[in-house]
Amino acid sequence: MTSQSDGGDRAVMVDVRDVTRTYGSGPAAAAALRGVTFAIGAGRLVALRGRSGSGKTTLLNVVGGLDSPDGGTVQVAGQDVTGMSERTRMRLRRETVAYIFQSFGLLPVLSAAENVGVPLRIAGVAAREREERVALMLSIVGLGDHTRQRPGELSGGQQQRVAIARALASRPKLLLADEPTGQLDQETGKQIMRLLRAVVRSEGVTALVATHDPVLIDLADEVLQLQDGKITASLAGRHEAQLPAVCQAGQAIYARVDRSTSTGKGTVALTSPVYTSPSRYRLLAESSR
Ligand code: ADP
Ligand code: MG
Repeated sequence: MTSQSDGGDRAVMVDVRDVTRTYGSGPAAAAALRGVTFAIGAGRLVALRGRSGSGKTTLLNVVGGLDSPDGGTVQVAGQDVTGMSERTRMRLRRETVAYIFQSFGLLPVLSAAENVGVPLRIAGVAAREREERVALMLSIVGLGDHTRQRPGELSGGQQQRVAIARALASRPKLLLADEPTGQLDQETGKQIMRLLRAVVRSEGVTALVATHDPVLIDLADEVLQLQDGKITASLAGRHEAQLPAVCQAGQAIYARVDRSTSTGKGTVALTSPVYTSPSRYRLLAESSR
């Protein structure tokens, strides 16, 4: 199965058309986006690649409704972000979109669990359900034993794991990540990218991840190349071909569903949850770990 073959039958999560954004005016004007057009299908992980200054952050901000373009249109989950009132846009940012930043953005006085619980509190989720969701998210990112630690007591990689858990806690449809491994060493960065790949599948979220990190190129469904405010290439990622036949996510074991063969044999226990998109994988069993 190639990434192109299933591109036509899925819902579009992000639709960006002819978007322009210029900072300042007159001789000092800086054209950060010069007519950007692309679409992202629901459930895909798309890497946004480009050097520093190419417009990645500006584009993420425009897609997430943090900034308004000067021209063009942006739709997220079928809603017209560009034409929205400020109030509706705020709701979109709260309910539909989640962000992950290079600098983690955790609240230092709160524990890992409390940080993950913040968006759930804002959404008015009841205490018990909130606790369950927080515990699940922290275990998915491999921090089940660190729930009470504060950000200052965690490594950079662990802090970014908390940020990923927090971003996905309230089940956003779209995850925007701005150089999420920019402050991490290479090996930790690789682990974070793999984790992102895994949770994007298991949570069924759509993700747009700005990065220079070559690791993500291998993990992405698609790669958009941004250069001087323009998309200069859109490539299929290499990820789809690499899905394992059987994998384990948390306590569940999944098998890849191919058109010809519907289950795999044996199990491969992986340290982090991977690839559990219901469309590609079938639940085999809940393990009693
Ligand atoms: P990237 O995230 O790829 O590094 P940015 O979106 O931050 O790129 O920046 C794109 C261009 O817009 C750069 O030339 C940058 O200098 C300019 N720019 C970004 N933010 C501002 C701002 N607030 N004011 C003026 N120019 C800006
Ligand atoms: Mg940037």
